[in-house]
Amino acid sequence: MDFRFSEQQQKLRQEVRDFLEGEIKQGLWQPSCDAWIMGHDLAFTKRVAAKGWIGLTWPKEYGGQGRSFVDRLIVTEEMLRYGAPAACHWFADRQIGGAIVHSGTDEQKTELLPLILKGEAYVGLGMSEPEAGSDLASLKTRAVEDGDDYIIDGQKVWTSGGSHMNWIYLVARTDPTVAKHRGISEFIVNATLPGITVRPIEDITGGVHFNEVFFDSVRVPKRYLIGEKNQGWKQVLNQLDYERSGMERLMANYPLFEALIQYTRETRRNGKPLSEDPVIRAKLAQLRIELEIGRLHMYRVALVMDEGRAPNWESSMSKAYSTAFEQRLASTAIEILGLYGQLSPASKWVPMQGMAYHSYLSSKGYSLQAGTSEVLKNILALRKLELPTG
Ligand SMILES: Cc1cc2nc3c(=O)[nH]c(=O)nc-3n(C[C@H](O)[C@H](O)[C@H](O)COP(=O)(O)OP(=O)(O)OC[C@H]3O[C@@H](n4cnc5c(N)ncnc54)[C@H](O)[C@@H]3O)c2cc1C
Repeated sequence: MDFRFSEQQQKLRQEVRDFLEGEIKQGLWQPSCDAWIMGHDLAFTKRVAAKGWIGLTWPKEYGGQGRSFVDRLIVTEEMLRYGAPAACHWFADRQIGGAIVHSGTDEQKTELLPLILKGEAYVGLGMSEPEAGSDLASLKTRAVEDGDDYIIDGQKVWTSGGSHMNWIYLVARTDPTVAKHRGISEFIVNATLPGITVRPIEDITGGVHFNEVFFDSVRVPKRYLIGEKNQGWKQVLNQLDYERSGMERLMANYPLFEALIQYTRETRRNGKPLSEDPVIRAKLAQLRIELEIGRLHMYRVALVMDEGRAPNWESSMSKAYSTAFEQRLASTAIEILGLYGQLSPASKWVPMQGMAYHSYLSSKGYSLQAGTSEVLKNILALRKLELPTG
């Protein structure tokens, strides 16, 4: 097994690093945790698009570059390393663009893929509902045919980026008379249509990034159905593999790791830097080892995708492992900070711009979003270990 990156890949990584460091030097943004999901910066997304780093893996005929998933992972890894504000394009680049390439009509490809590539389609994910989270197939939002349109009624919840999106990917029930997995379809919907109301929800950190989205008799032209009517479930499962498998599941709070190492170097206790305390050194070394194992998980997932296979158990395994790592990183940061770790980011005494506090709280959601760890372990037990369902 040769674990080295090709020369072209090393060049790509360096190019992304130079670009991001240049942006930070110019003061265009500051690195922050969770920036892939909370950092909405339309201008940044446009600049990334201009570099050609959106739709990297899509076929050239659709404006992509036909590059590998490993290449894309290199780009996203560097975005996360620098805590870049990439939320406006993340979902479209990661999964919705791919879903349109894979199952969309020519008309959808012509209309939507160029918008995503230019960094102009900010897509939210409308899957979860108040009574449909892990058991997504029990969703109640209805799409009923009416002439050339579907009329959509229902409610989505936890829609990340809902306040910024101009498109929403939606799963809705198109046949209520059949078994729950069979009557579901996928749509891509212009989020500015009449009848759509977005209501922000404050999260545990006090931040606002996810939302309730209400659909009240929203008229959506039929051409925005993705793939085959009532056959959406298979497509959803495929999409979830992509949603779960990215480096954002391992490095969402990576800027905290860098800041923590720096903090232990700069902070003295009993006359010595914290970084010389053997207990603290061992904790940081343990985290570094776990991070590197997580990276191997992620690169394995990308290699599976490059083989043309859906990473259906690999992505579950990598996400369950990686989000547990991120929670340990945040807990370790709080332990090392001692009483400072309990201060709110608003306090002038709080170290590392409150990253530890923020991350400790926000990392609680990492093992829920895109499939809870319990559900992912069920998938692993079924699809990889082939254990009986009981
Ligand atoms: C930060 C964040 C961002 C999110 N962003 C989005 C988004 O953009 N779009 C979107 O559609 N959704 C989003 N979600 C929602 C997310 O996908 C759901 O929270 C998740 O699917 C779990 O659903 P639930 O919250 O309804 O919990 P439930 O499904 O009610 O689960 C409750 C508990 O029961 C456990 N459980 C459930 N079923 C089983 C089972 N079969 N076996 C074992 N244990 C089980 C779960 O593990 C969990 O601990 C987001 C969530 C978070 C936290």
